[in-house]
Amino acid sequence: MKCNTCGHESNPEDYQEAREHYLASNEAIETLKDWGWIEPGALTVKDLIEESHGTAKSKGWYDEGTRNFGELIALCHSELSETLEEVRAGRALAEIYHEASGKPAGVAIELADLLIRVADLCGAHGIPLEEALRMKMAYNLTRPTKHGKAF
Ligand SMILES: [Mg+2]
Repeated sequence: MKCNTCGHESNPEDYQEAREHYLASNEAIETLKDWGWIEPGALTVKDLIEESHGTAKSKGWYDEGTRNFGELIALCHSELSETLEEVRAGRALAEIYHEASGKPAGVAIELADLLIRVADLCGAHGIPLEEALRMKMAYNLTRPTKHGKAF
């Protein structure tokens, strides 16, 4: 497949290579959308876990074995702090921008990082996130207004 923006040729079976190309070119994301590799609404919880943990493994984060659970939780905290820093810097909540390096940034990107971190730790430790989400959302429907609290 040929990038509509720069003419780069990618193997349509090689998602990782296309992602590397995207990282090198802000505009290439439009090509990934054209190819249907970025489809809003198409990502399942299972996809999120498999892709997040798969990418983390492919980038060497598990080369020494399973990572410490407490460390992974701390990294989730760091993504929430990064989200707050975007707001403190005056960024609009829905704004996605690119740093000079081409790295996507903004509140939505930091929240995406948080979900990626949560999905990675669930993948690494066999945590049934989708089952838990369905169970807890169903339970929340049964709770009283404001869960019986003042705020
Ligand atoms: Mg981040």
